[in-house]
Amino acid sequence: MDKLDIKYLILDTSAIFSGKTINLDDVKIVTTSSVLNEIKPGGKDYRNLQFLIEKGLTIFEPSKKSLDEIRVVSKETGDISRLSKTDMEILALALDYKNTENEVIILTDDYSIQNLSNHLKIKFLNISQPGITKRFKWSYKCMGCGKKFNKNINTCPICGSFIKNYISKTKKLSESK
Ligand SMILES: [Zn+2]
Repeated sequence: MDKLDIKYLILDTSAIFSGKTINLDDVKIVTTSSVLNEIKPGGKDYRNLQFLIEKGLTIFEPSKKSLDEIRVVSKETGDISRLSKTDMEILALALDYKNTENEVIILTDDYSIQNLSNHLKIKFLNISQPGITKRFKWSYKCMGCGKKFNKNINTCPICGSFIKNYISKTKKLSESK
């Protein structure tokens, strides 16, 4: 990816669903093909999408290297089970832009995407929700024997009980953008 003096705005599915007017001055709007595939033809969301395409929405695919990095980081933060393939691709695409020293912002309402963005020092903008003000790390605890795990598993390997996930560590964010 070449470095250009423009700002990239990466739209996830929630950004397109929101139908919010996006200020498109001086920005290049991009998304991945997996986001497009989540939007069914016909209906309001599709019209939003058509509008954005007319405004220059461009499709890019993330590099495998960035996708691998997202997988590693999301495993560390515990967000991996909350991130869809589409979410991971959005984050990886943002990382590609960041690594090539482009200015990039993810437009998303998804808390896990926002949390990962914080960990990766990628800027994000919230569309409709208040947004997260703390960076958090997920942990997992057995509801039966109380053993803690740092991986998301469904049942406890020791007693077979249900594993609950909870936020183990939070760090206040000074500024989320
Ligand atoms: Zn247990």
